[in-house]
Amino acid sequence: MSTTDDSLLADMGALCSAIDEADAILIGAGAGLSAAAGLLYMDFTTFGNWLPEYHEKYGLRYIYEAAFFDFPSIEEYYAYWARHISTIRFRHPVGKPYLDLYSIVKDRSYFVLTTSVDGQFIKAGFNPNRICTPQGDYGYFQCSRPCSNDLYPNQEIVESLLASMTSGSFAIRSEDIPRCPHCASLLEPNIRKGSNFVESPWMEKYPDLNKFLERSGSGKLLLLEFGVGFNTPSIVRYPFERIAATHGDSLLIRVNRDDAGATLIKRSARVKTYAGDAGLFLATFAATMAVNQNPKRSYPSA
Ligand SMILES: [Zn+2]
Repeated sequence: MSTTDDSLLADMGALCSAIDEADAILIGAGAGLSAAAGLLYMDFTTFGNWLPEYHEKYGLRYIYEAAFFDFPSIEEYYAYWARHISTIRFRHPVGKPYLDLYSIVKDRSYFVLTTSVDGQFIKAGFNPNRICTPQGDYGYFQCSRPCSNDLYPNQEIVESLLASMTSGSFAIRSEDIPRCPHCASLLEPNIRKGSNFVESPWMEKYPDLNKFLERSGSGKLLLLEFGVGFNTPSIVRYPFERIAATHGDSLLIRVNRDDAGATLIKRSARVKTYAGDAGLFLATFAATMAVNQNPKRSYPSA
């Protein structure tokens, strides 16, 4: 798929019909959708624009590398993570691909399953009760032990840490280290990085997802998958293929710049793949849907 892909435009009518006819829409999303929204976790330029001082001092080159970096002190660890969380989770605006997707499904029966932890679905307006994020969310801290399954919204904490640091500092004050209110262990971002990850608040969404799928069993199910590669394929990609292969009346639409091909799918399953950018796909899709809903407007030129 490219900006001049006629086959995508030719398919848009069928895609709009698939949306209109679906009784349920299950959305799956991975890092590729956030990349289309400007959150490029493996990109040198993005990191250089956001936190150039961390390249100069620690040699860090991209967000994903920084997220796994072993900082020399606890105070430096929190100084970095306060900037990381504030920049990515709270200050980065909602991306157009997420807004386009929301405009397509907002009045329909949908559920979201995503490996992303950057909060873009919530920012775009999706109902939090219909979003399952099994890898966590940058917007919460958890106890590092952990002594409980409690999660702590962290926006105020990270902004306070940033405010307490002098300009250009790479360390928070020791007295500001965020600690668990129950056991005083360190708090850390609630993202799946190790065996201490607090996952139960997110796993509680799976029964809702399963009920959603059960209800869809007698109708048409549309699976929309965006930017899900092979980093953690067992969370979205493979389950979507299994659902597509076993559901009585489903269509899987996979949009993926690098890994569009289905792998586990049975020949009988209905699958449509687009090897291209999710942002371009969703912009075209949303614009076509808007025209269909407002027939007095003229059809946009390619
Ligand atoms: Zn604790």
